[in-house]
Amino acid sequence: MRLAPLAAFVLGAVVGSFLNVVITRLPRRESLVTPASRCPTCGVPIRWSDNVPLLSYLWLKGRCRACRSPIGWRYPAVEGLTGVLFALSVAHFGVTPALLPALLFLSALVATTAIDLEHQLIPDRITLPGVAVGILASLVSPRLSWLDSLLGVVTGGGLFFLVILASRGGMGGGDMKLAAMMGAFLGWKLTLVALFVGVFSGGVVAVALLVSGRRGRKDPVPFGPFLALGAGLSLFWGDWLLRWYLAGFR
Ligand SMILES: [Zn+2]
Repeated sequence: MRLAPLAAFVLGAVVGSFLNVVITRLPRRESLVTPASRCPTCGVPIRWSDNVPLLSYLWLKGRCRACRSPIGWRYPAVEGLTGVLFALSVAHFGVTPALLPALLFLSALVATTAIDLEHQLIPDRITLPGVAVGILASLVSPRLSWLDSLLGVVTGGGLFFLVILASRGGMGGGDMKLAAMMGAFLGWKLTLVALFVGVFSGGVVAVALLVSGRRGRKDPVPFGPFLALGAGLSLFWGDWLLRWYLAGFR
């Protein structure tokens, strides 16, 4: 494996470790800085040497050193996923001005996905700054003009606004702001690709859960993770998907 993607994986795992703090504390409105990480079961502070991304989970065999209670698999999953996404970003974009916005965007997507799965909410404190960062990033991006970024915000946020009006609250405002953030980072065309992938994959999973009897008709299925999946796929392969799709109509 080449050095840059490997280094990016390690950086991603470290960022993922911080995202775990965000995912645990942000929905509870706790400080992201203090206190240091503690075991959620026994409250014993976690030593720095037991806080190494991915590796600590392995050598502690997924248990707290003090009380032996299991550590959630979400912790290594977020660290590993963020590492893979960072490595993929470096391999895809190279070390270019497009890289940093991609890393910030993917980090925001990982955090919103985990928080939506655990709490059924998408925090404004991630998506609203995300809209601003996405627009600012477009000013220096070689891939995306500021106008395209603004049109993306209007496309993503606007379509969800219409859905919210039509469904009279069936869809949450959190999803709308997530879609607006996606628009700021992706531009309007790739946002449409992302929304299409999100609606399609979310629909398939919702039907599968319904048919298998694991969820009732009234149980909400969080939509944010599917939007984030669409956004991630669109960030890397949206142009390709769009060309492939449009070619079918010639
Ligand atoms: Zn413990």
